[in-house]
Amino acid sequence: MTELVVIHVDMDAFYASVEQRDRPQYRNKPVVVGGDPKGRGVVSAASYEARKFGIHSAMPCSQAARLCPNIVFLPVNMEKYKKVSRQIHSIFREYTPIIEPVSIDEAFLEISDGNPIETAKNIKKDILLRTGLTSSVGVSYNKFIAKMASDMRKPDGFTVITPEKARDILPRMSIRKVWGVGEKTERDLNNIGIFTVKDLLEYDREFLLSNWGRRAHELIQLCRGIDYSPVQTEQETKSISEETTLESDTDDLGVLRNCLREFSLAIGRRMTKQALKCRTITLKIRYNDFKYITRSVTLPNPIDSSLLIYERSSEILKDRVPLLKPIRLIGLQVSNLVYPGEPVQISFI
Ligand SMILES: [Mg+2]
Repeated sequence: MTELVVIHVDMDAFYASVEQRDRPQYRNKPVVVGGDPKGRGVVSAASYEARKFGIHSAMPCSQAARLCPNIVFLPVNMEKYKKVSRQIHSIFREYTPIIEPVSIDEAFLEISDGNPIETAKNIKKDILLRTGLTSSVGVSYNKFIAKMASDMRKPDGFTVITPEKARDILPRMSIRKVWGVGEKTERDLNNIGIFTVKDLLEYDREFLLSNWGRRAHELIQLCRGIDYSPVQTEQETKSISEETTLESDTDDLGVLRNCLREFSLAIGRRMTKQALKCRTITLKIRYNDFKYITRSVTLPNPIDSSLLIYERSSEILKDRVPLLKPIRLIGLQVSNLVYPGEPVQISFI
């Protein structure tokens, strides 16, 4: 028998659930976390009560307000969600080192020993106990099916799909549910009469392969429930960096700050995905005569926000980088990374 070793954990309406947890007056009420409903803000997350009105993420907040006039709008509090994400990751790490983060509230885990179904139950229980939040968990023999499993009974779901069960469920599934099938591919497949997994498997293989090539091959494999992609642990990252060679050499502080802003955003995103924090920020500068300098700061407490990374790196640029000649290349690196679940030593200096 194929082993059921892959777990997919997906938090339920993550941002909205965190806010409902912290503001009991909004529990069981339609809540949207997102931008300004009077401006051009969009929905980042909708509570399950809000979803009943047809509200979903990426929808303009103004439209959400029309669909449900009593809806409560709350601002995004990224720092808070990251903190919860780190808590969840530290729970994962108590059970397995093989973790592939998909986003701030979603991850694949591989369980190499013990009983994966029991482990998955315990992880779900621990998440609820320690964060007060529900998750939907799928257990199966590969990533594709595990994700399908977690998606089947949301919210607060727990679903195990054995290979036998997969053979039973898959054929009836809408082709849209298969990995990599977006709106456009769905339309293309519908146009040739493919609506379900069964339709695709019964279709002329040669035709599919000659029209879609490698993608058709992957699609057919997935439709047969086959997915060999491994649960990929992000390698123990030692540092994250971004750099750019400027379009023209410059000593304009504004231009250089803009680069740092972009770098900080990109680095912050990657840190969020892996639930990391950093202690050291390093600025790299290459002048137009190819002389190269680096300037670092190590902070007493680790940080993970793009804004703080930007502020610290701008200070270094302003105070410690002489602008005596034009700059050709600018780079930003964060290192001294702190992983979720690692004890953070607070320094008092
Ligand atoms: Mg989720």
